Amino acid sequence: MSAKTLTISEIFHSIQGEASFAGWPCTFIRLAGCGHGCAGCDTAYAENNGIELEIEEIIKRTLTFQAPFIEVTGGEPLLQPAVYPLMTQLCDLNQKVLLETGGFISVEKVDKRVHKIIDIKPPSSGVSQHNNPENIRLALEAESIHRHTFEFKIVIAGKEDYEWAKSLLHEHCLTDSFTVMMGVAFGKLDPGELAEWMLRDRLRARLQLQLHKYLWDPSRRGV
Ligand code: SF4
Repeated sequence: MSAKTLTISEIFHSIQGEASFAGWPCTFIRLAGCGHGCAGCDTAYAENNGIELEIEEIIKRTLTFQAPFIEVTGGEPLLQPAVYPLMTQLCDLNQKVLLETGGFISVEKVDKRVHKIIDIKPPSSGVSQHNNPENIRLALEAESIHRHTFEFKIVIAGKEDYEWAKSLLHEHCLTDSFTVMMGVAFGKLDPGELAEWMLRDRLRARLQLQLHKYLWDPSRRGV
């Protein structure tokens, strides 16, 4: 892989199913490779078998769909060095670029124009010890004009995850300044139960459903 190529799992056009842009048409650039091994990973197929493409070719294919948003995702997109120039070049073309990252790698080098959706992995993921605290620090220290480009996402599988997430949010006052999306691990927790907990605790986070899993077969790729 050179500084100008990326290993891509898939490029596809769909409805954004998560985060604060849920419901918008979006083109997804899914980069191959991750290695974190989160329990319940729903994109394990992106771990291997990508194809190598030049940045110019990725941009050409992506723009074909003329979507209002482009999301760079994975796998773990920040593992591949060429992802940074890819995002910058898309921003230079006046595209609205979203990045979804697993939260293990610092987003410091990401172009400031990119909207960063940063996962915070709870205990049930089995990898919560690898959450990179740098990302919360960068968000809290961001200049006010860039703060809206940080957003956090936590996927809750049960009560232990919920209580863990609640104390983390309180510790950093994250919901005072940032959108925090709370979703359920599909099939593991009833979203209605999470909603009850959030309302009871007056938690100022946003409940998210993974729209694409309700629109299409939850195991389908490329949606
Ligand atoms: S960081 Fe994301 S892609 Fe990587 S194993 Fe975890 S859930 Fe899967």
